[in-house]
Amino acid sequence: MKMEKLGFQAEVSRLLDIVAHSLYSDRAVFLRELISNASDACDKLRYLSLTEPGVLGDDPEFKVTVTLDQAKKTLTVSDNGIGMNREDLISHLGTIARSGSAQFVQALEEGKSKDVSLIGQFGVGFYAAFMVADKVTVVSRKAGETLSWQWISDGKGEFEIGEAERAGRGTDVILHIKKDAEEFLEKARVNTIITKYSDHIALPIKLIEGGKEEKVNQAAALWTRSKSDITEEQYRDFYRHVAHAFDEPWGTLHFKAEGKIEYTGLLFIPTVKPFDLFHPDRKQSLKLYVKRVFITDHCEELLPLWLRFVKGLMDSEDLPLNISREMLQHNPVLTKIRQGAVKRVLDYLKKRAENEPDAYAAFWNDFGAVLKEGIYEDAEHKDALIKLARFRSTSGDSLVSLADYIGRMKEGQTAIYYLTGDSLEAAARSPQLEGYRAKGVEVLLLTDPVDEFWVPAVGEYEGKTFRSVTRGGADLDSIKGDAKAEEKKPEPAAAGIDNLVALMKLTLKDAVKDVRVSQRLTDSAVCLVADEGDMDMRLARLLQQHKRIDTLMPRVLEINGSHPVVAALAKAVSSGKGEAVADASWLLLDQARIQEGEVLNDPTAFAKRLGEVLSRAFA
Ligand code: ADP
Ligand code: MG
Repeated sequence: MKMEKLGFQAEVSRLLDIVAHSLYSDRAVFLRELISNASDACDKLRYLSLTEPGVLGDDPEFKVTVTLDQAKKTLTVSDNGIGMNREDLISHLGTIARSGSAQFVQALEEGKSKDVSLIGQFGVGFYAAFMVADKVTVVSRKAGETLSWQWISDGKGEFEIGEAERAGRGTDVILHIKKDAEEFLEKARVNTIITKYSDHIALPIKLIEGGKEEKVNQAAALWTRSKSDITEEQYRDFYRHVAHAFDEPWGTLHFKAEGKIEYTGLLFIPTVKPFDLFHPDRKQSLKLYVKRVFITDHCEELLPLWLRFVKGLMDSEDLPLNISREMLQHNPVLTKIRQGAVKRVLDYLKKRAENEPDAYAAFWNDFGAVLKEGIYEDAEHKDALIKLARFRSTSGDSLVSLADYIGRMKEGQTAIYYLTGDSLEAAARSPQLEGYRAKGVEVLLLTDPVDEFWVPAVGEYEGKTFRSVTRGGADLDSIKGDAKAEEKKPEPAAAGIDNLVALMKLTLKDAVKDVRVSQRLTDSAVCLVADEGDMDMRLARLLQQHKRIDTLMPRVLEINGSHPVVAALAKAVSSGKGEAVADASWLLLDQARIQEGEVLNDPTAFAKRLGEVLSRAFA
């Protein structure tokens, strides 16, 4: 029969090259990927048959078979699912840019992951076949069509496609097993692998050798069994199957709701953060079943986006089987299920937070930033989420809750102080913290971009307002600090400081909103703060980076009245060295900007002034 040659998309070629030469020891995952594809293909057709009953024809029982042929040295995974026609074969198995290929190759090359077994997570699991095969033939017929097609490749840059013979609908993936992979032709070995990966697949999987057929898995939907009959291992394997994951689930929630609306949920919280958690296209990845029939992979109505790290499925008794994807939107039954599921997850997190603070801290470090989106977006769950939130603070390495924070507030302290920064290190170094540190007042250090949004939106917690330490006055006077810290009273402001402030204002003009003597500085000479009511500085910088605003608003320059440099400048003003002080004022402003991690607008002017000041000093 006439075959046509086509080239793989470039990324796919690179991926195949890596996969084929991977020394990865657990190559057995190829079988998991192929069986998972076969099972997906059956699910898709089952779903289609809900609206087009004719498509099943005289072959209504879905099944997956794995056939071993010692003579031909082949392993074949077959299904009677939806099948692929010529276009499907070309696009799904070769040419259409699959975003996952590039990402997977990148992850491997960056050394973030040496683990080829993660291939399924990137949506390119089919190519795992080339770990054990030097040639792969796919023979397929799409449900409802009359022609069959074959796709053949040795995984080296090209594949061939042409017409073929196949008895009915479905797909055979025929692997011509490599010399060094012949263990995958042994029945006992293959049996063990299928049991390991596929026991929970709700389709019968049969293993055939020499015409003898045996059923390998239990083919019962795991979530329908009672909790006490399911081992931790079975839960874990199921999690790995539904989530394409390789870690242990951090949390497993298996529940049944009975009453007006009935549903079962089997939800997992991963231990390892997925690579695309913050990718804008990332969707909710919960599967929806209706009376054990698979309906859809990404049911966005089942959980809010701020729980997008939750994996697993929900199975409803009340939705109609022939529900279309459009009907899922604004469906009152789904709304109820969603409310129930959210509550279960939040209750579960609360319990883990209380009983296992260390495990919870690990969870929070990975997924806290996502939950915080909920504080901002979801008025209904805001309060529960704030209680679940944990923070870094100036008081040490461990995470604190707002309840911890409030419990430790100083006498006279009325606000929850926080500072936002791009990293914990940068935030902890901020000069604006000095006065708070000196008094022993704890400051929360917030480093997630979403912090810029939820904190101002929430405004207060249990009657205590959130106050940024980089904005407005420091209002530290009314707080009674630690006895020990109090001893280190700041020295009185230098004489002539008012004149210095006046001169600096005149010099810096519009470059600053104001110049003030600081209450918050103890060690540094200067710092920048946003004026009361203005946008917080880091938010302004974020918006500028994303081109949402053109320029940063002028900020308030605070000077430390008891700093030797400031004292010296104040003295210089009184003795008429105004010009030198003007240069120094600009330098101090630039210094404050550098400490904020900003890029100077005019580095040349900075260098020139620094040169002048230095040469004056040593003249
Ligand atoms: P994923 O399963 O994550 O989409 P794969 O690389 O495993 O990624 O498979 C690529 C695509 O090829 C699938 O999305 C599906 O469209 C198609 N495919 C693979 N195997 C089969 C099969 N047995 N039957 C029908 N389609 C299949
Ligand atoms: Mg797959």
